[in-house]
Amino acid sequence: MSQCTEWVKCPQCGFPQADSFFESHAETEIVTCRRCGYYAHAAPVRDGSGNDVGWKREITVGVGVVGGDHGYHTLHSEEQVTAAARSLRAGLVEGKYRDSTSYVTRWNRGPRWNEGQIEFLVGSEPRLREG
Ligand SMILES: [Zn+2]
Repeated sequence: MSQCTEWVKCPQCGFPQADSFFESHAETEIVTCRRCGYYAHAAPVRDGSGNDVGWKREITVGVGVVGGDHGYHTLHSEEQVTAAARSLRAGLVEGKYRDSTSYVTRWNRGPRWNEGQIEFLVGSEPRLREG
């Protein structure tokens, strides 16, 4: 089993470092964005004999992200965003998380799913990684 990781431009918010993973064993490709919560999963489509006949890509529009030292989770409903912001704020007060790396975003959607504005409910813009 091997996995490749590279950065791609997020199709939803335009962030230049959305994470793209290709898992060669399962032949699936996953793209996630740690800024807006965009999530895409692509897998081969096979006919009755097991031949690859195409790809099927499922996209879940991001509503937000909660992130910190441990990594990040994409959020897909307003309720998840509100709950994540509440729990992260409480954790910061308790000293469970570090201020400098913790954040919660909300994607304020515009006329189209990929036109909108990122709002930081907690924390600030994740730093670009060196690469
Ligand atoms: Zn994004």
